Amino acid sequence: MATLTKQQLKEFGYSQGLDVIGVANIERFIDAPARMHPASIFPEARSVIVVGKRVLRGGWRGIEEGTYWPSYTTFDYHGQLNAQFIQGALYNLTCFIEDQGWEAVPCYSGASEIQQDIPPLRKGAVAPDVQLAIRIAAVAAGVGEMGWSKVLLTKKFGPRVRVHAIITDMPMEPDPLIEPGTICKRCMKCVSGCPGAIPHIKEGRSIKIQIEDKTYEWGDVDMGKCTLSYHGADARVSPFIHKSLPGWDFDITKQEMSEEAAYKFCWPMSTGQWRKSAEFPSGYIIEGHAMLQKWGEAGSFGVEGSRGCMRSCFNYLEKQGVIEQTFKDGEFIKRPRWMLPSKVEKR
Ligand code: SF4
Repeated sequence: MATLTKQQLKEFGYSQGLDVIGVANIERFIDAPARMHPASIFPEARSVIVVGKRVLRGGWRGIEEGTYWPSYTTFDYHGQLNAQFIQGALYNLTCFIEDQGWEAVPCYSGASEIQQDIPPLRKGAVAPDVQLAIRIAAVAAGVGEMGWSKVLLTKKFGPRVRVHAIITDMPMEPDPLIEPGTICKRCMKCVSGCPGAIPHIKEGRSIKIQIEDKTYEWGDVDMGKCTLSYHGADARVSPFIHKSLPGWDFDITKQEMSEEAAYKFCWPMSTGQWRKSAEFPSGYIIEGHAMLQKWGEAGSFGVEGSRGCMRSCFNYLEKQGVIEQTFKDGEFIKRPRWMLPSKVEKR
């Protein structure tokens, strides 16, 4: 059976529109929990190929300026980037691998936190609903390192990237791991730009993993606060709450919710409907969030727009010359940033 060289694999992947491609051998997952391990999906796996595309810098422009939200949700968050642009190229690459006689499993960038409690289907087997930790898989494949923000940072685009994976029995030489600290400079711009979910390094709340001889460490992000802010319960970062819920007074920094509880709170409020009235004729609880979610096509929406973990981070990394993609017209954050009060005035 033909085995592709890494050059052939990457040339084909890039020709399909992928922006990043890296290869891990299965040995690099030795410490992965069974329900996040690629071999729990495909026991004969020898390699995990992580592929991705950049998030457009311009996708955030309207949110940064406080004037226009749809670009990010529709093209760059969960909309077409994750659900179409990467997947089309990834699928063509899996076909290319299978054309050489090796099985290739395409893996969507799932979420291990939604794994359900289902018993194993066979004695001694791993329980179903295995989900790769896709960012860690990307680190194992030499695509990038984890930033303090818990976001994957790549040399070419910094945090502006989304990734999926292919698990295959095709043996391949792994790409070199990125030395921790190569991209993340512990500048804490992600913390100062974040509405409150990323712990400062002095708080000492961090996660550490070991891959071969390298230790990667990042902040233990408060995913409840992150979700409340990102998915539409934080009036400081959404003018749509101010329009639809006059009198609202909810400070997300004081909430102690789990990520799931935060989702349960945000989604019905952002996408649900109530009777139409003269005061609120659209019938949506928060009309602006509901429209974003509808236009997002693949279902999700990102109101807060990664203010600290992405926008502040790549603004800093670009200025420092740490990442490869550069822009001709100066830094991304060009004007004083906006932040609304969390207490919404009554009309
Ligand atoms: S802003 Fe980016 S580079 Fe700076 S500490 Fe946060 S993740 Fe690291």
